This record gives sequence, structure tokens and C-alpha cells, in this order.
Amino acid sequence: MQILSPYILRKKTETGELFFNSKNNHSCFITNDLLDAVENDLVVKRQYENYLSKYNYFQEENEFEKTIDYVRNTEMETLEFTILTHGDCNFRCKYCYEKFENIKMSEETEAAIVEFTEKLLAESMFKYMHVSWFGGEPLLGLKTIKNLSEKFMTICSQNGVDYSASITTNGYLLNERIIHQLILGYSVSSFQITLDGDEESHNFQRVLHNGKGSYSKILENIRCLQNSNLNFCCNLRFNISKENFNNVKIFLGSDGESFKHDKRFRFYFYNVGSWGCGERSRNYKVTLPDPDASFELSKFAIKKGYNVPAARGIITNLFNCYANRKNHYTFNVKGVIQTCTVALYSNSNIFGSVHGKFNHEKFDRWHLTIDSECQKCPNALICKSGFCPPKHRSNKQRTLCNQVKKKIDKNLELFILNKEYCDYLDVKREEV
Ligand code: SF4
Ligand code: SF4
Repeated sequence: MQILSPYILRKKTETGELFFNSKNNHSCFITNDLLDAVENDLVVKRQYENYLSKYNYFQEENEFEKTIDYVRNTEMETLEFTILTHGDCNFRCKYCYEKFENIKMSEETEAAIVEFTEKLLAESMFKYMHVSWFGGEPLLGLKTIKNLSEKFMTICSQNGVDYSASITTNGYLLNERIIHQLILGYSVSSFQITLDGDEESHNFQRVLHNGKGSYSKILENIRCLQNSNLNFCCNLRFNISKENFNNVKIFLGSDGESFKHDKRFRFYFYNVGSWGCGERSRNYKVTLPDPDASFELSKFAIKKGYNVPAARGIITNLFNCYANRKNHYTFNVKGVIQTCTVALYSNSNIFGSVHGKFNHEKFDRWHLTIDSECQKCPNALICKSGFCPPKHRSNKQRTLCNQVKKKIDKNLELFILNKEYCDYLDVKREEV
């Protein structure tokens, strides 16, 4: 008798059970009727086992090592950069963890980043290069985006590497001209823009540097993006606090409706966390929400027909934080080389500078390896002993482990709700 692999994640519902194969990311939802038929009908049982065998659901020799090798090899194909193009932001959000300095990137730093890139591309056989433009507000450094994009696209084409880019922007400066420039000129295919609910709650949390609200301008710019008929995907992010929980629901029932049926727009909900205070004063803040707030809003949005693919990014063996990927580098506006974009001011997250030395040993030590104990865990091929190096090292591994387990379980529920499984298996019904 063949035994199911321990790396098949399972989740029961009233009507059946989801099987997610974390060895190859295949999934199927099996109805209760079919599970009954498997118990009682030998022919159905054989068909069912053949199906599971075809998609490698049974235990195989060295399945853990083989999957991890596949994941690592896939990660090695892509060179990833996050680049902070400007030291300032035109917003002062009530949960921001950054400290601002009104400086743009110098031409010397841009040139040194290009040199660093050429060296990396010459040393390894990358198939892809992906750049995430970040800030402060990256569009304050549009000139740097232009200069570096042109250089990166040229070097990539000389080296036979596929180039792509994305941008995390507050959306305030994203007018029609810039949208066309980014998409058509600089290969930006993905946008992340945060909207924190309806006008009232958004303006309460996402405040312009001059104290005014930013909602109507951002909404106008997102509509401009939508009307452009260009190819892109836009991740609308909602940072959930206690204050805006209900307002996000109001947004989904009002202004959000116009993006519901446009598949280029995807909706993501995240709880505001203890990300640090940056330069904010202590009482300039929002209240942390209930732990399940983002999960509840994801369910709410899926039921309302929104495109909420969060589970697809987590329920996969390729799940990892970019800060834990060996070919990911963050460059701040002065050319300091880092990797995490949250622990921006931590010395452990500084590995050198494009103007000086790069500490390879420290960079290698930063990345997590898989604990042998974790191999027994059904989540191991997704979690891989945690994905967050700073949390892992600050003796919070037990907390991180519990968080990951809960996160995976909750996302399996969203995965089912969103019908993201590859196959739906049911008994054959007689035609009437
Ligand atoms: S959260 Fe983003 S948009 Fe808001 S102040 Fe910080 S960097 Fe600017
Ligand atoms: S850290 Fe926890 S959830 Fe992750 S693989 Fe290890 S035991 Fe499993």
C-alpha cells in the first residue's frame, strides 16, 4: 500500500477536503462523496490512487531534499534588487517605520550600482533580473529610475537576461505621463499601491507631509492606470488597524467596486504590525488590530467577488521573504547594501556599500538554513524553518513557528474559498 507523503497539507471543509502537495505545488479538492466512493468501490479506489500517484502525492525517496534543491535552484535563477531611489517621502503615514532625509541618489551611486550589477551578472548565470523600486517614495527619485532602468535593460540584453521591474509607490505622483513612462519605457509591470479604506479612514492613516489627505488624488491616479489599457498588475494593499477595519468594508462596497472585475487589480490585506516608529512621535499612530483582522477582510472580499490571491503567494514551496533570498540585494539612497527593507536601521542588516567593500561572509551568514528538527513538520517545504532572518535570530523562533503554522492553516482556508486548487474531484454523476 502506498503511503501519502507527510508534505501533503490537508484541510477539511463541510463538503470535502483539500490536498495541497507542497512537493510540487499541485492541489486538489476531493468531495466527501468521492471519499465515500473510494472506501466502497474498488474501481474508484484504483482511479483515485492512480491520480494521486500521477501527481506525486505518495511518499518518495529523498522527497524533502529533492524539493529543497528545486526551490534553491529556482531562486538562483533570478537576481533581485530593491532600490530606494530617494531618501524622503511626500507622506507621513501613522504606521511608517522609516526615517527620512531629503536626498536623491547621486550619479556616483547610480554608477556604482551599475558596476556592482555588471560584476554579479558576469559571475553567475542568471536567467532573470527583477528590480523593485522602493523609498521613501520612489517617484521622488524618478530620474534615478530612468537612469538605472536604461542601464539595467542594456546590460541584461547584452547578457541574455530577462529584465522586469515593479514599484511600491503611495500613488500620489502617479499621473498618466509617469504611468506610460514606467510601463512602456522602464519595464515596470507591477504596482503596489496602498489604500487604507474609504476616504475618511485613508486620510486618517495616510497623511500628506503637509497634513492634508491623499485619498482623492490616489484614487484618481489608480483610475488613470485602469483607463490606460496597458498591461500591468496592480496590487491594492490595505494596512489594517483597529480604526479602519469597518471602513475597508465600506470601500469594498463603494469605490472598490469599479476594480472588482478588472483582473489586473488584486486585493491584499495586511495587519499593521509593530514595524518600528521611524521618525514618528509616540502618539502619532494607529491601534494594532485583532490578529485575525486581515484574514477576516480577505474572506469578506473573496465572498464579495474580489480578486484576493494572497494564499497563492504563501501556499507554495517557493514562499520566502526576499530578505532571505541569496540573490536579493537592497540598496539605500547612498548605496549602502542591505537586504531587509523593514530592519533598515539595524547594523546586522548592513553588508557594505557599493562605494566600498561588500562583506560576503556576513551576507551569507544572514540567510537562514533549515533546522533538521523541522524536517518532520508537514509545513517544512513551505516554511523552511521560518522566512524572516531578524525574527529568527531575536530568539523569537518559537513565536515565528506558531505564526507560520497559523498563517499556513488560514491561507489554506482562503485557498479553498478562492477555488485556487488545480482540480476538483467528485464522483461521476449519472446524466438525467
Ligand atoms: S508608509 Fe510609505 S508612503 Fe507612508 S510615509 Fe512611510 S514611506 Fe511614505
Ligand atoms: S519553523 Fe515551525 S512551522 Fe516552520 S518548518 Fe519548523 S516546525 Fe514547521
